[in-house]
Amino acid sequence: MKEQSVLSTIYENICRDTGKQNESAKLIAVVRLLTLTMLVYSFVCCVLVSLTGHTGALAFSLFSPVLFLALFVLSYRCGTYVSYCILNICILFWSIVNIYYFGWNIGVQHFLVVLLVFVFFSKYKHERAKIAYASFLFVLRLIFYYYCRSHEPHTVLGTDLNNALQIVNTFFIFLSLGLVAYLFSTTTQEMEGKLIEYNRKLVKQANTDTLTGLYNRRRTMEYLESLLKDAESQISICLCDIDHFKHVNDTYGHDTGDVVLKSISDTFRTKLPPDTFISRWGGEEFLLIFPNMNGDEAGTALEILRQKIKGLVFDGGSEKFTVSLTYGLVEYDFHSDITTLLKEADEKLYIGKESGRDRVIF
Ligand code: GH3
Ligand code: MG
Ligand code: MG
Repeated sequence: MKEQSVLSTIYENICRDTGKQNESAKLIAVVRLLTLTMLVYSFVCCVLVSLTGHTGALAFSLFSPVLFLALFVLSYRCGTYVSYCILNICILFWSIVNIYYFGWNIGVQHFLVVLLVFVFFSKYKHERAKIAYASFLFVLRLIFYYYCRSHEPHTVLGTDLNNALQIVNTFFIFLSLGLVAYLFSTTTQEMEGKLIEYNRKLVKQANTDTLTGLYNRRRTMEYLESLLKDAESQISICLCDIDHFKHVNDTYGHDTGDVVLKSISDTFRTKLPPDTFISRWGGEEFLLIFPNMNGDEAGTALEILRQKIKGLVFDGGSEKFTVSLTYGLVEYDFHSDITTLLKEADEKLYIGKESGRDRVIF
């Protein structure tokens, strides 16, 4: 637990932005982590180079950790872009000097590939500059290859030291490349995740009624079309409407009317069978679809619902009140179209209203 909080504190500090809101915290984190990697790496190289006894190479090796440390500190003071550019220049400089001093065999030239990936993954959109920089790195690598073939390195290392530097370089090149690729790929995954989540929200918004959270008419038509297209089991449909709802609004206010609508919707959700498709058809009318029930079964479920809704007591300020709904229920006959089915349900609802409301008509 403690270890986790120390790690997260370190990560938070590494991610700490430069204060400019339009700058990516992820890019500055990559810059800082890569700088720290280079700092450790150059320090290890410094130790190894000290074994050569060559003063020029040693001076450079001693200078490099200081350079990367200074860059790390600087990254908290100047903007992301400046730190990113300086780091690029430093790694480039590091690679060139090392190739010049110790030749091709220590493998430091592969840092040019790290730079290539680093630049291409960065958020900056200077496409031409990126291509130009990639070409430059390619040409530079070729030049050094031919230079090293025809020139002895400035400092010729023994086989052991050569091998040690080759291993250290390989390790840090893999580490840097892995770091850059990992951190930038998580950005892409994060963005994709956010996009999927955002699309899911948009689809939900397009399909639901904002007041009650029930499906809206558009989604209901879509559902009905697909349900009836390849219907194999019994389907029942019920159109229901709150009785004298205008009176509720007029007597207790529109806000209380909204509370009633929400409360009835919650009762639908909790008291109807789980596979019931519940929608707000309009105003104070709801369409309930029972995908696996015949009319009698749906009628029984509606009767229970009717009693539950009648049992809800609402606060009207000066008095308490209750509400009821009238239900028009039809059973799908496997050949009627949606319009006919809805018309039939509406006719049953009308009969219910005419014959005294607060009842299920099937
Ligand atoms: P009946 O029993 O015949 O259905 O009578 P009723 O008063 O319920 O029917 P009417 O069609 O006359 O009135 C429906 C009312 O529903 C009128 C309208 O203001 C109200 N209404 C529709 N949508 C909303 C809403 O989102 N919130 C509130 N508070 N009222 C709504
Ligand atoms: Mg109505
Ligand atoms: Mg009504």
